[in-house]
Amino acid sequence: MDTHIIALANQKGGVGKTTTALNLAAVLADKGKKVLLVDSDPQGNASSGVGLFNTNEDKNIYSCYTGAKEAVDCILPTKQKNLSILPASIDLVGVEVELISQENREKRLKALLRPVREQFHYILIDCPPSLGMLTINSLTAADSVLIPMQCEYFAMEGLAQLIQTIRKVKKTLNRELYVEGLLLTMYDRRNRLTHSVASEIQKHFGDQVYKTVIPRNVRLSESPSHGQTIIEYDPGSTGAKAYRQLGGEFLKRTKARA
Ligand code: ADP
Ligand code: MG
Repeated sequence: MDTHIIALANQKGGVGKTTTALNLAAVLADKGKKVLLVDSDPQGNASSGVGLFNTNEDKNIYSCYTGAKEAVDCILPTKQKNLSILPASIDLVGVEVELISQENREKRLKALLRPVREQFHYILIDCPPSLGMLTINSLTAADSVLIPMQCEYFAMEGLAQLIQTIRKVKKTLNRELYVEGLLLTMYDRRNRLTHSVASEIQKHFGDQVYKTVIPRNVRLSESPSHGQTIIEYDPGSTGAKAYRQLGGEFLKRTKARA
């Protein structure tokens, strides 16, 4: 299978990485693509978002990082057809320090995904809110990076640092890495600040900004506590519609690039 691996990264917390990873994965799975969601955040929000609230057993990405387990033994099906998850638990915090002394420490995720990647059309990696080892591993394993951004006053702050990190990874670890796009999340059409921030981002990044914007929608914030993606929780909501549109635009862009 021709597999495409996408990292959802932004070192800012609360910008919609996990919400986008979950719901873009759900939409692509709903369109019949085989999708793996990789939870690369010790908070485990992507795992609980698909209904895995108890990941205290050792079938998780941390066991893969330590070599105790193979990815194939830790990938679990979800309630949704075509959607699988490699879950995370809080142990994953340890990776940041444990890897420091090890060889090829940036390439661990890439290596552990290699035996399973063929089984999926898309692998989406939900990154933690930092530019540490877990994010570096994700960027090294990925073909492209999708950057969710909230349209708030300090949205651009920190973006330069992220772009610089992407450049560094591209230079030394993953030559082929490219920016899939920037995605405006929690968009509020009635807010003038939203418009001015959005146009500033568009001025800087042009076509790299997705045409689809994700509006603020309470159903999107409710669904994870039910362990459901928006497709399961409320398929008619504006949030579900927005993520379906994102899925369409994502596939169109991917096709245009191929
Ligand atoms: P990150 O993974 O970048 O930290 P999250 O996806 O967890 O961000 O989003 C942060 C919070 O905002 C969560 O409580 C989430 O449910 C909520 N949220 C995300 N996107 C939306 C949206 N479009 N509308 C309403 N709430 C949202
Ligand atoms: Mg998150």
